[in-house]
Amino acid sequence: MGMDVYGKKPTNETGEYFRNNVWWWRPLWDYCVTVAPELCESVSGHYNNGDGLDESGALELAKQLRHELETGATAENERQYNEWRASLPREKCELCDGTGIRTDDIGREMGQHDKELSVEVQILTGRTHGWCNACDGIGTRESWESGYPFSTENVRAFVEFLENSGGFSIC
Ligand SMILES: [Zn+2]
Repeated sequence: MGMDVYGKKPTNETGEYFRNNVWWWRPLWDYCVTVAPELCESVSGHYNNGDGLDESGALELAKQLRHELETGATAENERQYNEWRASLPREKCELCDGTGIRTDDIGREMGQHDKELSVEVQILTGRTHGWCNACDGIGTRESWESGYPFSTENVRAFVEFLENSGGFSIC
């Protein structure tokens, strides 16, 4: 699933369309709200129901984001955000109840319960057989939150879209 952001009165191709999948969009929009709450808080930015900003709002948001880019604040945010993501504890895998061996009907049907593990996972778990497709046999997986990326480049691309969009709608 993706978030499609359409320019209302684009002045060139860059301003016609901006697309992020939901994983990229969520942190990007959260960042916009942090930087420019007076503009973004009233926009339902996490729903694709056509909400957005008019031309002057889009330009003002672009200006504030560009300022953050130029001062290095965005790069610093990226650094801190990645640190936070890396610090998230792994979560217990629910499909195998944390054992690393999937023994429910589907797991057995697919032969996961007695499948041989990769060498890496054998070393990690001290076990040679018994796999789970959700966690690769480890029993834990990365938390959902760590799957939401944020990057300075993504912010820059959004700013370029905003500056040429003539306002935008999130669909
Ligand atoms: Zn598992």
